[in-house]
Amino acid sequence: MAANVLVLGGGMAGLCAALAAAERGARVLVLEKGTRLGGSMALSNGIVWSFSRTDDVRSRLREGNPALQDLVVEQLPAGMDWLVAHGVELQPLQHYFGYGHGRPASGPQLAAALGDAIRQRGGELVTGAGLQQLVVQDGAVTGALAFGADGSVEAKARSVILATGGFQGNAELLARYVTPYAQHLYLRANPCSTGDGLIAGMGVGAATTPALDAFYGHAMSAPPARFGADRFQEMSHKYGPMAVAINLDGRRFADESAGTGEETLNIAMAGQREATAAYVFDADTADRPYLADGMRAWGFPPREVMRSLREFNAAITAGEGGSLTPPRRGEPHAVARPPFTAALVRAAITFTCGGLGVDLDMRVLRRAASVTTLPLARAPADEMHVTPVPGLFAAGCDVGGISGRSYMGGLAQALVTGRVAGTQA
Ligand SMILES: Cc1cc2nc3c(=O)[nH]c(=O)nc-3n(C[C@H](O)[C@H](O)[C@H](O)COP(=O)(O)OP(=O)(O)OC[C@H]3O[C@@H](n4cnc5c(N)ncnc54)[C@H](O)[C@@H]3O)c2cc1C
Repeated sequence: MAANVLVLGGGMAGLCAALAAAERGARVLVLEKGTRLGGSMALSNGIVWSFSRTDDVRSRLREGNPALQDLVVEQLPAGMDWLVAHGVELQPLQHYFGYGHGRPASGPQLAAALGDAIRQRGGELVTGAGLQQLVVQDGAVTGALAFGADGSVEAKARSVILATGGFQGNAELLARYVTPYAQHLYLRANPCSTGDGLIAGMGVGAATTPALDAFYGHAMSAPPARFGADRFQEMSHKYGPMAVAINLDGRRFADESAGTGEETLNIAMAGQREATAAYVFDADTADRPYLADGMRAWGFPPREVMRSLREFNAAITAGEGGSLTPPRRGEPHAVARPPFTAALVRAAITFTCGGLGVDLDMRVLRRAASVTTLPLARAPADEMHVTPVPGLFAAGCDVGGISGRSYMGGLAQALVTGRVAGTQA
């Protein structure tokens, strides 16, 4: 098979990249590992959102690459208009959390509309073919070798875009980079994103970003609960920042209110024994009937739990949450008014935030010919050089270091980086 632009992965980033390239007249081929297009995008809530202003990103996100963050924020409005121009049904602009804006869509409709727009421009979309390795000639990427149930596919192209959606489905990489409790994590995403883009990129010398341990997700109801993708939302305990989070040793382990929302608490939980905790709250916080009266039966030491809660309540009531260890700086809710509720939850991973190092054109950097990607590295200007791997681009969750441990919208990141990658490729 041959194309001008080969896109590996048919989710949000891959489809946006393919359409942007096809719009510019490129012959486009998309290889998708799964049996359907859309990846996690098709399972998502479909809210295409990010921060409204770059100043707010600076004040709320303590990690990540500021230049890439600004790119996402600045290009989101044009990106949403572009989606509408290609048949995506976006609802009117809404405001979120006091600092974000965006437009809700439907994941399946996004996938269908983008797929149709690519085909109308002569693009080819092949499902059931997963990237295994990149093909290199004289140092430049010239294609890829993919595998499916029917054997191998070799595709040649002038430019190749990695858009395989991160490495959250790869237990070995999660254990190496994210948490020793990787085998306990729930996967709250499509099952195909097993780090193939990252591994293939590293195989041709790509640089990686800092914070390979950072990820986005929400705690979900712990086992024995079992559920499929159609219940990911319902099983997500997004009220965590207002509760008291207690680990299996009976102790608080994080400022529940820190970061941009429950995703930050969920990351801290992933590092606790069995990636498990209880969210304890009272009648003032409870807005739904989660009933869990048996914390001892779940393996929590009752005396330690009570000690943690008394200490917490005393500090919050005195207005001294910041003096707790760990502190509780926001959401000052004591667990005071019966009935009391505890929900047994487990950390879940939706997408990894560390990945391949790129420049602002989404060209993947060659480690051997580029300086470090550490954000605080300092050196004389003439030593600060980066060099891309010719022919290789990345988009979406395969791009590392955008948001760090906080959240600025996964679909927006995929939309903007995908468009840039497709345009440049
Ligand atoms: C339940 C849920 C709710 C969400 N809600 C929102 C929301 O409301 N707003 C928001 O902004 N974000 C949301 N997200 C996150 C959002 O879906 C992702 O950030 C976004 O889809 C990332 O785009 P991507 O293209 O990088 O990955 P994906 O959309 O997952 O696409 C990656 C694709 O690559 C394919 N692939 C993997 N390996 C290979 C390979 N070797 N070769 C070829 N193809 C491969 C996968 O099968 C997949 O189709 C949600 C996610 C979930 C799971």
